[in-house]
Amino acid sequence: MKHTKVKDLLNSTKPVDDVTVKGWVRTFRNNQFLAINDGSVIHNIQAVVDFENTPAETLKRLTPSAAVSIKGNLVESQGAGQKFEIQVKELEVLGDSDAEEYPIQLKNRPSLEFLREKAHLRVRTNAFGAIMRVRSVLSFAVHQYFQENGFVYVNTPIITGSDAEGAGEMFRVTSLPAQNPPVTQEGTVNYEEDFFGKETNLTVSGQLEAETYAMALGQVYTFGPTFRAENSNTSRHLAEFWMIEPEVAFNDLDANMDLAEDFIKYVIKYVMERCADDLEFLDKRLADEEKQKPQAERSGMGLLEKLQFVLENNFKRVSYTEAIDILKSSKPNKNKKFQYLIEEWGADLQSEHERFLVEKHFKSPVILFDYPAKIKAFYMRLNDDGKTVRAMDILFPGIGEIVGGSQREERLDVLQQKIAELGIDEKELWWYLDTRRFGTAVHSGFGLGFERLVLFVTGMTNIRDVIPFPRTPQNAEF
Ligand code: ATP
Ligand code: MG
Ligand code: MG
Ligand code: MG
Repeated sequence: MKHTKVKDLLNSTKPVDDVTVKGWVRTFRNNQFLAINDGSVIHNIQAVVDFENTPAETLKRLTPSAAVSIKGNLVESQGAGQKFEIQVKELEVLGDSDAEEYPIQLKNRPSLEFLREKAHLRVRTNAFGAIMRVRSVLSFAVHQYFQENGFVYVNTPIITGSDAEGAGEMFRVTSLPAQNPPVTQEGTVNYEEDFFGKETNLTVSGQLEAETYAMALGQVYTFGPTFRAENSNTSRHLAEFWMIEPEVAFNDLDANMDLAEDFIKYVIKYVMERCADDLEFLDKRLADEEKQKPQAERSGMGLLEKLQFVLENNFKRVSYTEAIDILKSSKPNKNKKFQYLIEEWGADLQSEHERFLVEKHFKSPVILFDYPAKIKAFYMRLNDDGKTVRAMDILFPGIGEIVGGSQREERLDVLQQKIAELGIDEKELWWYLDTRRFGTAVHSGFGLGFERLVLFVTGMTNIRDVIPFPRTPQNAEF
């Protein structure tokens, strides 16, 4: 049977007779006012039940999360808070929900920690409904941006045979039996007898493969699942996340920074225009949360203000060397949030350092560039100083790094020397080196963790709360 989405009813310009709505009960007050949500929009529609002509048995079944079908007239509401409501003519409970057993009691404001254990049900709350709609629109915006700008979408492999980039963070893929796998003469597992005839892993990045495609198609991007066996429990790392990786031939590092900044601004604007209700809800939610915090820890800016700020201001571009000088001369602050500031040139920045630069020093998103070669990957373009590479990280408030990118080393001999220095077997990368053998050119690209972007846009603070089913150490329940 045809039914209408709550979103369309709430956007109606006039009363409508005989509409049907299907959804789930949020609340039922005074045996009369039923709030129904169907996931199409953050708001509920109010249905006014004719309790005198409805069996008491049915009224009792209108418990939180029960599935219902309602037929009635959409009329202008007498009450405050909504323009339209439904005057119910027919009401059917499609699926009961035991009020005693239903784990999410909205009245008690369940904590995010508690909801993480109920990942299959938490999407029934306003906050998670909003986050997931924003996530969906954002992922569409990603494709929209690249397609509008002439990029080709490339699906790089999820199972990979090269482990040059993995550095101990890879999940092995094998079809060998756990019990008594074949062994070599030395007694180690013999992967030559495995499905692919060699060791294989889940991808940690599609970049190397994307580079080979960029060197023929010009501008490409990937947007797919990415896996890293992160053994730390942080609020910005997942073991399974989605990464966006554009790669562009003939672009140097400056053009790469321009692309990243333009892309981020585009998708934020896109989602602000299309998810105004959800973002407004998340903005209020965050404001409520801020009020609970001690003054010193409050961020000072609301979510919508923060998003607007990003749209209207240029990201600060700062060299790594300059950043280290700033960190070295800064005093640890009183509330100890940013206490590890003394750093020597050459050290990798921790998220505390990144957040200090963004939140305290520049008060703006920051693009750090020209990192020491020693702390960056082998494929990055070496500068003439011989010790820094054309790398950039984009740092955002509340998160730190959201983008890592670089201009790639296009010179075959320099790349080969680097690979040798790191003890990587050149034979592993023969296909990658071919791009430098046949028509090499300057090219660059970046990786942006999609969930870190969703974190920023929704104002959430833990990455586990912006993906439907988070994968973290000791956590793959579903
Ligand atoms: P970090 O320093 O936070 O560990 P990284 O430098 O290891 O990140 P890159 O290899 O540069 O990450 O990957 C590119 C982008 O992918 C990062 O800037 C980040 O947005 C995202 N990313 C990396 N690891 C994760 C993860 N475990 N979970 C979610 N996003 C991630
Ligand atoms: Mg990492
Ligand atoms: Mg990093
Ligand atoms: Mg990085």
